[in-house]
Amino acid sequence: MNIAFDYGRLLEETLQECKHHTERGHVATYIPELKKADPKMAGVALMTARGLFEAGDTRVQFSLQSISKIFSLLVALEQRGAEAVFAKVGSEPTGDSFNSIVKLETSEQKPLNPMINAGAIAVCSLIPGSSVEERFAHITCLLEQVLGRPIEIDEAVYSSEKETGHRNRALAYFLKDIGGLEGDVEEVLDLYFRQCSILVDCADLARIGMFLATKGISEAGTPLVSANAVRLVSTFMVTCGMYNGSGEFAIQVGIPAKSGVSGGILGAVPGQYGVATFGPALDRKGNSVVGISILKRLSEVLDFSIF
Ligand code: GLU
Repeated sequence: MNIAFDYGRLLEETLQECKHHTERGHVATYIPELKKADPKMAGVALMTARGLFEAGDTRVQFSLQSISKIFSLLVALEQRGAEAVFAKVGSEPTGDSFNSIVKLETSEQKPLNPMINAGAIAVCSLIPGSSVEERFAHITCLLEQVLGRPIEIDEAVYSSEKETGHRNRALAYFLKDIGGLEGDVEEVLDLYFRQCSILVDCADLARIGMFLATKGISEAGTPLVSANAVRLVSTFMVTCGMYNGSGEFAIQVGIPAKSGVSGGILGAVPGQYGVATFGPALDRKGNSVVGISILKRLSEVLDFSIF
């Protein structure tokens, strides 16, 4: 891409072209607090070597939700090593939904991968610390280094999920029963609900995308995690990051990406860009409809695909 390329204009035009897609989706309602989001919101941010470009609702805060699974996995890989992580979680994609319980009993007695809820909860149990606060600090500390600002959680989303997350509770107790979860179940769930409630905006996600795109280097040039941990996480993002829509996304956009039910999508274009979208109206698989349409368009213009 030539150095004078007008990224700001591209983002603005793409947003205008795609924003009607918000009408095709619905906000998540299974976490009561998420129902309050405005389904018409749409934003896109691109982090480049020349800085951040953005258009639309990029400074509206929302909870990180499933995108947080990237951070707990990075922390577990760094603190416990890949062998300990893969003893508790597999590395195969699934055609089931992110919160499905069905394979836990019939597959190898461990969650298929760390991007579905069961896998992420198992990964959370590996994060060291003598209290939830201490364990959570490992996650926030890394995120604070990436974003260069203090991290807060959305208390209302946290309480809402803690009160109503019966299916996650079921997954966690089942895991405990089959020896797949270390430590106290309620403490692990508390950690999982906290990480899902971390507040970010679309611009933050683009910065995180760039951190992954540069193999774990901060904006100031400091390595924050090992390149191998980033490689593993990025691979999971390609195979499982967009729920059971990951295959189609790999064909249409072709980058490591992770979405969350609050409407964010974070993408990393290796060596080039961090890219992110926000739009709380979701498709049936839980991915932001406007986000996917924007990323498809940008991938065509900027030639994102790694394949
Ligand atoms: N906190 C959500 C849950 O556990 C995260 C799901 C998601 O974003 O995919 O159900």
